Amino acid sequence: MTQSYPLPPFENRFAELPPAFYTRLQPTPLPAPYLVGFSDAAAATVGLPRPADEHTDFLDIFAGNQVAPGSTPLSAVYSGHQFGVWAGQLGDGRAITLGDLPAADGQGRIELQLKGAGMTPYSRMGDGRAVLRSSIREFLCSEAMAALGIPTTRALTVIGSDQRVMREAPETAAVVTRMAPSFIRFGSFEHWYYNQRFDDLKILADTVLEQFYPELLPEENPYQALLKEVTRRTATLMAQWQAVGFMHGVMNTDNMSILGLTLDYGPFGFMEAFDARHICNHTDSQGRYSYQMQPRIGQWNCFALGQAMLPLIGSVEQTEAALADYEAIFQARHAQLLHAKLGLRTQQPEDEQLIEALFAILQANGVDFTLFFRRLGNLRIGNVADDEPVRDLILDRPAFDAWAVQYRARLRAEDSDDDARRLAMHAVNPKYVLRNYLAQDAIDRALEKDFSEVARLQQILQHPFDEQPEFERYAALPPEWARHLEVSCSS
Ligand code: AMP
Ligand code: MG
Repeated sequence: MTQSYPLPPFENRFAELPPAFYTRLQPTPLPAPYLVGFSDAAAATVGLPRPADEHTDFLDIFAGNQVAPGSTPLSAVYSGHQFGVWAGQLGDGRAITLGDLPAADGQGRIELQLKGAGMTPYSRMGDGRAVLRSSIREFLCSEAMAALGIPTTRALTVIGSDQRVMREAPETAAVVTRMAPSFIRFGSFEHWYYNQRFDDLKILADTVLEQFYPELLPEENPYQALLKEVTRRTATLMAQWQAVGFMHGVMNTDNMSILGLTLDYGPFGFMEAFDARHICNHTDSQGRYSYQMQPRIGQWNCFALGQAMLPLIGSVEQTEAALADYEAIFQARHAQLLHAKLGLRTQQPEDEQLIEALFAILQANGVDFTLFFRRLGNLRIGNVADDEPVRDLILDRPAFDAWAVQYRARLRAEDSDDDARRLAMHAVNPKYVLRNYLAQDAIDRALEKDFSEVARLQQILQHPFDEQPEFERYAALPPEWARHLEVSCSS
């Protein structure tokens, strides 16, 4: 028996913007689609169930082969700065928004967008497709970030096909359905600013304010308030990325969300052997988007947004005032997160030195970032013998031992309780992150049509702070073969 997948009718708020903001179009059909992954957690945010066998239309709707009820598919135009250089018009070159559905929690609406659904007027030289490899990576990482409590777009499902697409080598096509209240980017504002279409710029800003920041409308200068709030969210997001060791890889202004979400997963990575200069995108030869640069680039991008909003805000002084707090907000949030990672309940003046000394050790020894903080949570103040698991991660044992003396003194000074601290540290230092080799393993199996590893990894990463002893090996150091895994922009 066939039955339709219970999808409420779509609306499309974005389509209420003037026609210059987007192009209506149909996705390009994807031949013989099959289900690669599905996130129950993402689905729950719009009250959708896991598709059952009889829901034969599910694959067709999310492969772009069948238009869902109420859907008016469209691709949006935007521009942006890529690697610090004005790139002019870009746009949804392979993303097609189906429309929006009511959020299950009653808080607004959520857009569903197919990524890899075929060519659009903004495809430039691209083929409008996404490969299975990058689609699985985006799917797994969106859901992993959400489970880590980091603001992000979500991913509902990945649908694969044997259709060939050419990258460095032939690969196969896939479509990932992403979800967010909005996919509007800093580059969406820059688009109208650099085209000197200030009326459209105002329409965009007013729409963003009304739909996503209504609390700012009564402000004396709502546009300034909007820039200030986006700046705050971006600074906070950067602190969260740094604290968990997430590297985005392509922080162009067209990949920066006006809602402060992690957006456009490409050559991202999680820090393994700590190196502040690490560049996760091997196309980024200058290291513009290296780990240590991310906070500064977040700020640079906010300035680019500020520039674009200048005609609305009114003056350079007001624009600068809206941007002024970035650094302080980042520093405060980052310090707070690092204190939590170290299990410190209070902030003391000497902590800066303690944290600096620790990062010098992590850097000099290439210590696995995730494992280190997780194992540090098990440290007992009165029992040095128990330090072995964390100590084992560090080649220069005397350096660690000397640091641990300081750390213990600091813990004693705030009467830290071992058990309470372990619980608190394990609640903020994940045991499981999406290591490149884990993603690669799931991808390799998916290429053989075995999707079980995608599902398993997604389930493990749904509970990154839990011990999950049965999945211990997913918390292990990367194997030798994974040392030289490279991720590029190609997707
Ligand atoms: P990204 O750096 O991946 O965020 O992409 C930058 C721009 O290139 C965006 O406008 C994308 O839509 C576009 N793009 C990337 N890959 C493709 C593709 N295969 N086909 C069409 N457009 C693409
Ligand atoms: Mg992009």
